[in-house]
This record gives sequence, C-alpha cells and structure tokens, in this order.
Amino acid sequence: MDITKLTALELGRQIRAGGVSVREAVEAHLAVIREKENDYHCYITVRKEEALSRADAVQEGILSGQYTSPLAGVPVAVKDNICTKAVRTTCASKILGDFVPPYDAAVVERLTAAGMVMLGKTNMDEFAMGSTTETSYFGVTKNPWDITRVPGGSSGGSAAAVAAGEAGIALGSDTGGSIRQPSAFCGVTGIKPTYGTVSRYGLIAYASSLDGIGPVGKDVADCAALLSLISGGDRRDSTSVPQDRFDYMGALKGDVRGMRIGIPKGYFQAGLDAQVADAVLAAAKVLKEKGALLSEFDLDAVDYAVPAYYVIASAEASSNLSRYDGVKYGFCAPDHKDLQEMYKRTRTEGFGDEVKRRMMIGAFVLSSGYYDAYYNKALKVRALIRQSFDRAFENCDLILGPTAPTTAMKLGESLSDPLKMYLGDIYTVAVNLAGLPAISLPCGCDDQGLPIGLQLIGKPFGERDILRAAYCYEQETGGAFCGRC
Ligand code: GLN
Repeated sequence: MDITKLTALELGRQIRAGGVSVREAVEAHLAVIREKENDYHCYITVRKEEALSRADAVQEGILSGQYTSPLAGVPVAVKDNICTKAVRTTCASKILGDFVPPYDAAVVERLTAAGMVMLGKTNMDEFAMGSTTETSYFGVTKNPWDITRVPGGSSGGSAAAVAAGEAGIALGSDTGGSIRQPSAFCGVTGIKPTYGTVSRYGLIAYASSLDGIGPVGKDVADCAALLSLISGGDRRDSTSVPQDRFDYMGALKGDVRGMRIGIPKGYFQAGLDAQVADAVLAAAKVLKEKGALLSEFDLDAVDYAVPAYYVIASAEASSNLSRYDGVKYGFCAPDHKDLQEMYKRTRTEGFGDEVKRRMMIGAFVLSSGYYDAYYNKALKVRALIRQSFDRAFENCDLILGPTAPTTAMKLGESLSDPLKMYLGDIYTVAVNLAGLPAISLPCGCDDQGLPIGLQLIGKPFGERDILRAAYCYEQETGGAFCGRC
C-alpha cells in the first residue's frame, strides 16, 4: 500500500484502526518530499525532525483517546502566510524572510488540537499576490503533472504538495481564487468558504475584506472534513461568524435530485478554452442525469469583477503592507543613514515587483484626486455584483462554471504580461467580492493531459449545497483525481 496515495480520511481511518502508525504516515510523506522536492519545490520550510517527534506524541494521544478526530495523525502542509508559533512564516517575501511568529493562527491551533501533524510551510506567490506561484522570493513551484508548467497560485505550493503526495492534505488561502485555481491546475479539490466561516486570526493580511482560509485535498470528503475542523467562530477575528463548528460531512449524500443549478451564459464566451468548456458542460450533464435541474441565466455586473477586484484588493494591500517598514519585525536594510532612508531601502529591497505594483495601484486609487473615480466606483460595482448573485440565487441553489479559463500555463509565460494574468482570475474573483463559498474539483483533462477544474458556487453559508453536488459528481465519475503525477 502506498500511504501517500490514500485520501486523508482513509489514512486517518487506517491510523485509528492501527494499520498504519502516525510515524509511518509522516515518514512516507517525508520520503516523497526527499525524492521530489528538488523538482517541485512545494515547500519553503520542511519540519522533518519536529514532524517525526510530533508523530510519536500524536500516536500516544490517539491510543489514550485524546485525539478522536477523523484526521488525527494525518500529515498536513500549511501555506506560508498562516502564522505558526516558532516556525518561520515568510509570506514568500524577503521582507518576512526571517519572521518567526510568537503565536499560532486560529486554524493552526485547531489542526493541533485535532492531532494533525504539520510537515511544513508551503510556497506561494509573494503576499498571495499572483496566480502562478512565480512571484515567490524563494523560487517557483512546478506543477507535478508537468514540470514545465506553473501549479497556479497563489496557493501553488499547497496544491502541488497534495497532488504530488508531499502532504496528505493542506491549507491554502483565497483572496481572489488562490485556493480554487491552483487546485484546478494541479488536479486536486479546494474550497473557499463563505467569508466569516473560518477565522482569519493569524492569516497575514493581503486584502482583509476578501481573504479567507480553506482546505486543499485529494477529494471532496477530505476537504469537507478539514473544513469542518477549521470552521467556527473566533472572538479574535471580528468578522468570523459567532457559531460553533460547522459540520459538513452530513452533506456528502450523493444525491442532487431537484437541486437547481444555474449556468451563467457569459461564462462560456470568448476567452474560455474550448476543452475546458466541454469538460465543464459535460460535468453539468452528469449532474443533470442525477436529477439536478439546469438552467442558463445572465450574471450581469460580473463582467466588471476583475477591474473592481484589482482596485479593491490593491487598495487594501497598500494599507495592510504599510506595516512592513523595517522597524517592528522582518527584514531591515542595513547601513542606512537615517530613518527615511531605512524605510525606503527596506521596502525597495524587501518587496518584489508584483507586490510593489499592487501597492502603487492601491495608493493611487486611494489618493484624494482619484478615490471617487476608482476606489468608490469599485465598491459600487462590488455591491452590484453581490446583488446579481442574490438575484441569481432566487432561482437556483448553486452556480456551475469553470474555475479558470485555461489549464496550467507554461512557466514564465504570464510574468511578462501581468494584465493577462489578472484576466485569468475572471471566474474566481467575483466570488470573493460577494463573500460566497465555492469549490473547485477536477472534471477531466485536456489533450495535453492537464487537469481541468469545475467550480461550484454557493449561496452565503451554502457550503453544504456545493459539497453535496461536488460529492455526487465525484461519486458518479469515480473521482477524476488519479494521482498520475
Ligand atoms: N490571483 C489573484 C491575485 O493575484 C488572487 C490571489 C489570491 O487569491 N490570493 O490577487
């Protein structure tokens, strides 16, 4: 049996049944890391020794009844913008290159309390800005399906680690698609939960009104299990919904009879790769055959989602990233002659090009002469987008479409043309602007053998609907994840 090919829930079951020890589970994944990491570079930091000693402690905890979670003992990878106590957390930036947080993010506390074993911190686009994991200060991550291609981004390290068997399951973050798009590119499943479902305490902020943490797993059930574990209220994040943990496992019933699924016509126009369109529409047909009711509709205002997103996200980023000045923590440029020069050199040397571009756009759209023309206008567009989703959900329970317009691009292709990269976020960013939940799961491959992602978007707190439909599709098709890479 290859432990690294098991789903996280199956591995958890075997561990609880005594068939696999936690140490064996961790060692199996570390062996893949040893073998593949030079090619793939999924991680910024691997915690080999710590993971092994934690494995033994968790084993005891499972035997003594301390850990009863279905994911107890499962090796997990955590995106490097999520704070981990005493473990370097870089955001893939030089400016936080030696930052060691003094506390754990809320989600990390929950993984620990459930007896999961953290293997390390995954690579990402710098400060989660990007769609390819190429803007990382620590070098690019390669797509395990084809190492000449990007894994997507910004959670490319997490998605590639799960696809390659370098982690049993992972956490990512999604501000405008960063869980869903790399999941699509790497042939794995990822969920961006409703805004407020998972605490952002300890998530290093990019754009606070859009940011969210979610699971990346081998299949729908794995994601549902990890989401159940990390969701729930937290008074340290004022935007988290004050509720007990949500239980998503009950939604996995395999039945979509009578479920109303809306397909936005505009999603299938110019710009969408024909093979992606075919695979996504074929997936819709599978759900129809299982009893779902399909209908087409116009999702207006969404045409303006990409510009509105980049205005709002950059504005929030320019404010959030002003804290990195060389004084409080992180990198500080040496040999400065006065305070001004220290600020300037620290930020000039500490941030990469894409992050600087966003901060400049953000400062511009917030400046007094342009605030109304750009930032305020974008907020109005955001309200309209929310309304068009609200209207759509009067007639349907969920919305089906592609996750990304293409499959994984060649490395280097999009770095020279940032605008093109931004346009690739067309199907994901509106979901964040409206705060909705969405899942991406594999629905086939193109003629290059590259995975295609199907996206299902739910009503606010409609995670159960999208999980039910996703699970039904996966059961029906036998799960497109085949671990081929
Ligand atoms: N690609 C988008 C961006 O660059 C989304 C990133 C994200 O979700 N963190 O902003």
